[in-house]
Amino acid sequence: MSVLILSGDDVRALLPMATCIELMAGALRTLAEGEAVQPLRQALGLTNGKGLLGVMPAQLATPPVAGVKVITVMPGNHARGLDSHQGTVQLFDVDEGRPLAILDAASITEIRTAAASGLATRLLARDDAAELALLGSGVQARSHLEAMRAVRPIRRVRVWSRTLEHARRFADRAAAESGLEVVAVDSARQAVAGADVVCTLTGARRPIVEGEWLAPGCHVNAVGACTKTSRELDGAAVARARVFVDRRESAENEAGDLILARDEGAIGDDHVAGELGDLLTGRVAGRTAAEEITLFESLGIGVEDLAAGWHVYRRARDAGRGIAVSLGD
Ligand code: NDP
Repeated sequence: MSVLILSGDDVRALLPMATCIELMAGALRTLAEGEAVQPLRQALGLTNGKGLLGVMPAQLATPPVAGVKVITVMPGNHARGLDSHQGTVQLFDVDEGRPLAILDAASITEIRTAAASGLATRLLARDDAAELALLGSGVQARSHLEAMRAVRPIRRVRVWSRTLEHARRFADRAAAESGLEVVAVDSARQAVAGADVVCTLTGARRPIVEGEWLAPGCHVNAVGACTKTSRELDGAAVARARVFVDRRESAENEAGDLILARDEGAIGDDHVAGELGDLLTGRVAGRTAAEEITLFESLGIGVEDLAAGWHVYRRARDAGRGIAVSLGD
C-alpha cells in the first residue's frame, strides 16, 4: 500500500482554474443531490493565540472518495514570508479505506475557494460584469482575480487593502501579469462604488462594506469572514441582497455576515435563497432582475477540497508525479 505525496507545485500544475470551477460545480451538485456526507468543521483556537487548527472531513459518492483537510490559519505568517494557511488534504478510497494521497492544502484552498466564487459569479452575476472590486490583497485576491476573469469579461479592477502599500504592490503585479487596468485605491468605498462584482477577501472582524455603497445589479462574493463572530459586510449589505451559500448548515453555524445581520434584525431567518447546488439542480432561481444585488456567502467546505484533491491525485498518478511512500501491507 502506498500513499502519493503531492506538493503545492504539483497541485498548481494539475488544477487549472477553469477545471476547478467545473469540479466545484460537480461537488456542489452532488452535495445538493444528497450524495455526499458533509459535517460541520471543527476549529480549535491555539493556546498561544497565534491562530487556529481546522479539521474538515467529508465524503463524496462521485467521485468515490472520503477524506479530510487539516489546516492551520496563522494570520501572522506573512511577516515571516509564509502563507497564512498551511496544511494537508488526505484522501481515502471508499472500498477498502486505504489512504491514497496527502496533498498540500494551501494551494488547494487558494484555488478551490476562488473557483467556488467563480462558479457563484458565473451563476449569479450579470453577463456584462466588467468592473471588479477586490477587498484584500493576499492569496485569495490573486486567485479571485483569475477566477473572475475566467467567468466574466473583466476590464477594470480596483483593489483596496488595509495596508495601502500591499494594495499598490498587488495592483502593480496584477496589471503587469494580466494587462488589465488594476488600480489601488485608498478606501473600500472607492473600490466598491460602481463595481459589477465585489470580492471581500480579508481577515476583517468588523464590516468593511456598507450596503449603501453597493451598485444596483452588482454581485458580491463574501469570502473572508468564516466564523460566527467575524464579518466583512454590514447588515444593510446582506439585507439588500439575494443570498446564496455553499452549505446552509455551515452558513447557519459559521457565517458571521449572516448570523450577526440576523441578530441585529437586518434580515429574517429565511433570508438565504438557497445553496449554489440548488441553482445547479434548478430547484431555486438565481438572479431575477438586472438591478438585483446578489451575494454568495462562502464558508468553504470539505467536499470542495475532496473534489479538487481527487482530480489532482488522478492526474498525478497518470503523469507519474509526486512521491509514493509505502505504508506497509
Ligand atoms: P492572506 O493572509 O493572504 O491575506 C489576508 C488579507 O486580509 C490581507 O489583504 C490583509 O490586509 C487583510 N486583513 C487582515 N486583517 C484585516 C483586518 N482586520 N481588516 C481588514 N483587512 C484585513 O489571506 P487569504 O487571502 O488566504 O484569505 C483571506 C481571507 O479569506 C481570510 O480571512 C481567510 O481565512 C479567508 N478564507 C476563506 C475561505 C473560504 O473558503 N471561504 C478559504 C480560504 C481563506 P493587509 O495585508 O493589507 O494588511
